Amino acid sequence: MQDTKLFETILGIATPWRISRVALDTTGERVDLWAEHADTRWPCPECQQDLGGHDHADERVWRHLDTCQYQTFLHARVPRVDCPTHGVRQVRVPWAEPRSRFTVLMERLIIDLIRQCSTVKGACAIARVTWDEAWGVMSRAVTRGRVRKQARPMPYIGVDEKAFRKGHRYHTVVCDLERATVEFVAEDRKIESLGTFYDQLTPAQREALQGVAMDMWEPYIQATRTRLPDGDQRIVFDRFHIMREMTKAVDTVRKQEHRGFLRDDGESPLTKTKYLWLFSEERLPERHADTFAAVQALELKVGRAWAIKEGLRTLWTFRQDAAVRRFFKRWYGWAMRSRLDPVKKVARMIQRHLDGVLRYVPHPITNGVAEGLNSKIMSIKRKAGGFRNAQHFTTAIYFHCGGLDLYPR
Ligand SMILES: [Zn+2]
Repeated sequence: MQDTKLFETILGIATPWRISRVALDTTGERVDLWAEHADTRWPCPECQQDLGGHDHADERVWRHLDTCQYQTFLHARVPRVDCPTHGVRQVRVPWAEPRSRFTVLMERLIIDLIRQCSTVKGACAIARVTWDEAWGVMSRAVTRGRVRKQARPMPYIGVDEKAFRKGHRYHTVVCDLERATVEFVAEDRKIESLGTFYDQLTPAQREALQGVAMDMWEPYIQATRTRLPDGDQRIVFDRFHIMREMTKAVDTVRKQEHRGFLRDDGESPLTKTKYLWLFSEERLPERHADTFAAVQALELKVGRAWAIKEGLRTLWTFRQDAAVRRFFKRWYGWAMRSRLDPVKKVARMIQRHLDGVLRYVPHPITNGVAEGLNSKIMSIKRKAGGFRNAQHFTTAIYFHCGGLDLYPR
């Protein structure tokens, strides 16, 4: 078999194209291939109208899969047609997508490597491509995947914010809670950031959407109220967020009480107890049980705050609206009589948002899935070794978490 025939076969080059020349550079460890075509008519890339060749663009080079250890490059001058409707256009070549510097097979390999490697840099080293080339492949893959994506109904979504860099702006991330995919990313956390997502939903998607899990973040609340029909009826405040706020309140009570002891007595029974109060009743490790029982027996303020926090957990076990409202009323009274300001503050916050909190009863969703995706996003951030800009971060989130069909065809 001639070397030109060999490469035609392994590259899948077919009429009217053929490989006319193969050059092997043993010192540079590279193979260069030239493709030529027979005289033929070409479809316009826009409207597929059959047209005669007009002229040729300058020679272009595509990187292909390596031939053994040799980097392999395909060269060709792409014919151009002069379409009456679309003007002078380059025709499509069978081995690459328009504007790509890689053949389809090479681009697929790079996508696989970026997916599997723990870092983009690692993928670059294996594929022997530059960081910019890898990002080019990623962003083209994301664009392609998002164009192909079907507008499917999503009964439950979660909205969360994610810091792009410490102390930097936040990204808004919208997840499909059932498929555990990121559906939308915006580079801020304003009303508009989430509003844009609602605006681009199809009428059928809007109709199907039953619950939106979120923190009590005012811009998200406003966006859902104003940009989604009956939006207010679909808000479900995330229970984990509420419990985090409650746990913070317990910690504030502990700190204040601890400082009081130190100031008055020079020592405090609360020394080194911070983590004890963060556990839930069932999760307290056995080895801490005695210590915890001992401090609880002192009947401190933090003990009361902790009991109120643990009491709140019951809220998410009810299945009847009337019952959960009765429970909340009792709990709220308990919290408000506690004379513990941080606890009262959280209780009031829950009271103000009560309908959205209790919507958990008909729609038991949380941002738990979104939180899982968020930890994936955090690891993407670490792996990428820092993003040059916010756009790169967005691209990486879609690439790894979007559930998209990324491959060129
Ligand atoms: Zn045309």
